[in-house]
Order: sequence, then structure tokens, then C-alpha cells
Amino acid sequence: MHQGWSEYGLDISFIEGQALRDLSGTDAYKTATVVKSGGCIQPLSYSRELARVATEQGADIYSCSPAISVTPDNRQWQVTTPAGKVTSDWVLFCTNGYTDDTLKGLKQTIVPLISVQAVTRPLSDAEYNAILPEGHTLSDTRRVIYYCRKDNHNRLLFGSLGMSEQCNAADRKRLHKAIHHVFPQFSAADLDVYWGGRLAFTPEVLPHLHEPAPGILAGLGYNGRGWQWVPSWAGFWPNGYRKSP
Ligand SMILES: Cc1cc2nc3c(=O)[nH]c(=O)nc-3n(C[C@H](O)[C@H](O)[C@H](O)COP(=O)(O)OP(=O)(O)OC[C@H]3O[C@@H](n4cnc5c(N)ncnc54)[C@H](O)[C@@H]3O)c2cc1C
Repeated sequence: MHQGWSEYGLDISFIEGQALRDLSGTDAYKTATVVKSGGCIQPLSYSRELARVATEQGADIYSCSPAISVTPDNRQWQVTTPAGKVTSDWVLFCTNGYTDDTLKGLKQTIVPLISVQAVTRPLSDAEYNAILPEGHTLSDTRRVIYYCRKDNHNRLLFGSLGMSEQCNAADRKRLHKAIHHVFPQFSAADLDVYWGGRLAFTPEVLPHLHEPAPGILAGLGYNGRGWQWVPSWAGFWPNGYRKSP
């Protein structure tokens, strides 16, 4: 992985031993790569800021207003929602793991997966300084990924894949085991709030951009990792959709 990305010109370094323990605050991993251009965002703040900027530029935002159908209308597209219709030259589908049947066949290009996450109680100064002291986000390469970062309320966010968007009891139990495996100083009692949602998995673990008809674009398949594990069902593509180059 390190060599492959380096060949593509990414500023990525390989670490192990004490350097890895110091940077992560855990003994759970033997080797790691550090991507200097990587970073993390607070997704809700990011969404709110996008909405603010878009509104400032004249966009209208309607929530709780799902597109039910998209039909051709005199060289344009008509989008129908439960409460009204919009006609436009362009329609963008950005529905990722929540993709439904509005655009025929699009749902079949991804596999929706559930990601679940929990946040710890606020960390003590000693805990805060020992874990990811330089503010990195950590994610591992196990097939059912573990990932974590600290937030700006001095807490540790820890996640993995799960079974229910509500992060059910089985998901919580797995998160307890996972965080204890990576950071043995934490147990179930240290986790405070749990949640979950969907992401979209693709056969080759890369995002896709489709143009199934002129004026319609669909961008989806954000896997959160983007590396080369390819499952045996890669190669299946529904009619009308091509694999990204
Ligand atoms: C707990 C959790 C942790 C995650 N952690 C990471 C991480 O660490 N790193 C990372 O890279 N990614 C992570 N992800 C994945 C990341 O959140 C998604 O990849 C990202 O949100 C996708 O953004 P999006 O805008 O494409 O789709 P989404 O944010 O999923 O938005 C899709 C929207 O489309 C709407 N929609 C669906 N159908 C219709 C319709 N017919 N009409 C109108 N609207 C419709 C849905 O209501 C939804 O609001 C995580 C996800 C979860 C749930």
C-alpha cells in the first residue's frame, strides 16, 4: 500500500515500533503509514457551512423533500417531489448509501453498509495527550475497519462497521470490544453516545461518477478508505452503468 501510493506521488511515510506507538497512543498495530495530506472534518459543521455558502450564492435548499421521479421534459429534466416539481437542465444524484430506485439501476451499483460510531466521556489531560497526540485520524486495514479521532470537546470518537443505523446492542458490544482492543484503558462504561448511518461500498472500493443520460450526473460510492481489496463479486455491473476508469 505504501509503495503503491508513493508511486502515485502521495507524501506518505511508513512507521513502526516506538514511532508508531508515540503517534497513535496504542500498541495494537505493528506498522502504519502516515499520509501528510490527510485530515478530518466535523461532518455536521461541514454540511452547515456548505449550506450557508450555497444559500449565500442564491441556492434554495429543501429538506424532507425526496425526489420521487425524474422524467425528460422538452430537453430538460423534471424532478417530482411529494409537494411540487422542479425543471432543470441538470440533475445531480448525490445519494450515496441512501440511493433508492428514483434513477433506475443506480442502487445496484453500490452496496450500502452501515457505519457505527461512539464517543467517549471527555478525556483527562493525560489521556488526551497520550492518544493521537498530533491530532491524526487513525483507520486500520482490517476488513471490518476500526477508525478513530479526537474531537474538539476532548473526547475520542471510535467507529467500525455495524448492523443497525441505530447502533443496536450487538453493534455497541462490538464497539466496546474494539475500543478496548485498541485502547485497553477504555471499557463500555467510558462510551457515552452512539450513532450510525450508511456509506456506499463499491466493488473496487473507489468512488464512481456516472452520466447515465445527458444532463444527469450521479456521484456515489464513498467508501471512506479507497484501497485495493477487491471482493469476488467485483465485475458485476448493471446495464447502463460502466466501471470508472
Ligand atoms: C458513523 C459514520 C462514520 C463515518 N466515518 C467516515 C470517515 O471517517 N471517513 C469517511 O471518509 N467517511 C466516513 N463515513 C462515510 C461518509 O459519511 C459518507 O461517505 C458521506 O456522508 C457521503 O456523503 P454524500 O453527501 O455523498 O451522501 P450522504 O451524506 O449519505 O447524503 C445522501 C443524501 O441523499 C438523500 N437522498 C436519498 N435519496 C433521495 C431522494 N430520492 N431524493 C432526495 N434526497 C435523497 C438522503 O436523505 C441523504 O441525505 C462515515 C459514515 C458514518 C455513518
